Amino acid sequence: MLTYYSTREDIENSGVDTVVLPIGSIEQHGPHLPIGTDFLIGNKIGEAVSKRIRALLLPTLPISTCREHKGCRGNVWINSDTLYHALRDITESLKSQGFRRIILIIAHGGIFISGPATREINSDNEEIKIIRVDLLNFLPHIQKEGILESDNNLHACEYETSLMMYLYDDLVRKDKIEDCIPEIPRDYLNYTTIPKACKNGVWGRPSLANAEKGERIFDILIEKCVEYISDVNRVLDKTD
Ligand SMILES: [Zn+2]
Repeated sequence: MLTYYSTREDIENSGVDTVVLPIGSIEQHGPHLPIGTDFLIGNKIGEAVSKRIRALLLPTLPISTCREHKGCRGNVWINSDTLYHALRDITESLKSQGFRRIILIIAHGGIFISGPATREINSDNEEIKIIRVDLLNFLPHIQKEGILESDNNLHACEYETSLMMYLYDDLVRKDKIEDCIPEIPRDYLNYTTIPKACKNGVWGRPSLANAEKGERIFDILIEKCVEYISDVNRVLDKTD
C-alpha cells in the first residue's frame, strides 16, 4: 500500500495515478469524544479506501471550516476561501507530477466549499479531476439499513459515536455520554452555533451508540465510497 510512509521511488515505480486526500476538522465533539474525531475517522476511511482502489494515501488535512462550533474551546477553523485556494494549490502540485485523480474524502459535515471548489477545479482541468466523496451522503443509506435507532444524527451522535467506539474505543469517554436534540433544523447553523443550540455540543443520541453498529457503519461507508468512486471514474473515463 502506498502512503506517506512510501518513498519517492516506491511511488514512481508503482505507476499509481490516484491519490486519496481525506479532510477532517478539529472541533468540539461534546463531553465524550475528542476534538480530533473527524480527523481520526478521516484517517481510517482514507486508509481503507486507498487499499481498495490502489491509490496513494495522503495524510488527512486536519483543519477545515467549522465556525458552527464557535463559542467554546477546542475549535480551529480556516475560512472557506482559504480552503478553496488550498485545494486549488494541492491540485496544481499533483497535476504537475502526472496524477490524474484526487479522491477527496469529506469526513466533516461542514465543509460546504468543497462542493463548488470541486466543480470549479474540475471545470478548469482536463488532465486531473477531483472526485469528492462526502461521507454524509451515505447516511440515508445507513439509516435505511436499520442500523441506527435514532434519526437525528448530526454531531457526536449515535452514528459518529458508534464509529469512534469501533475505531478508537479507548478515546471514547463512556461515562460522559449525554444526548441532546436541538429544536432547530440543521440549516439554522447559518444563524447560530451548535454550542448555542445544545450546551453540551452534541446533536443526536450518542447513548444509543455501540461498537457493533460502528463496524457495520464503517463497512458500508467503505463499500459506498468505493462504489461511488468507480461510478464517477466510469463517467470520467468516457469523457476523458
Ligand atoms: Zn464529527
